[in-house]
Amino acid sequence: MDLFPAGSRPARQGDPNWFTGRVWLDPIMVATAPARNRSIRAIFEPGARTAWHSHPLGQTLYVISGTGLIGVRDAPPQLMRAGDTVWIPPGEEHWHGAAPNAVMEHIAIQEAESGFVTTWMEFVADEEYLMPPG
Ligand code: MN
Repeated sequence: MDLFPAGSRPARQGDPNWFTGRVWLDPIMVATAPARNRSIRAIFEPGARTAWHSHPLGQTLYVISGTGLIGVRDAPPQLMRAGDTVWIPPGEEHWHGAAPNAVMEHIAIQEAESGFVTTWMEFVADEEYLMPPG
């Protein structure tokens, strides 16, 4: 059993190659094999979002606070709010982030396949981000 005291593992800012705007990533778990769980808590400032990406084994998002957006290809983004859970299947290209005028905080739970959890793609264009939510 390992207990990781709050604050003992530093938060880091989202890599500007993969995120638009400022995002804080707070580690929850990098499990050792054979477990594959990789979990973080992420806080997006208003307007901040991930680039387009996919996860080899899918991803669960659980919104803790605020108002955010989740987008997939060829569809307007959808609003997500505190208490919402989102499941993104393996390989589905998507992005997630805060709404334009709100902070959003979520827990992101995913599993690593051969040590990797995310395939990164291009940034989300303003025209995609600002499309009225469906
Ligand atoms: Mn994702």
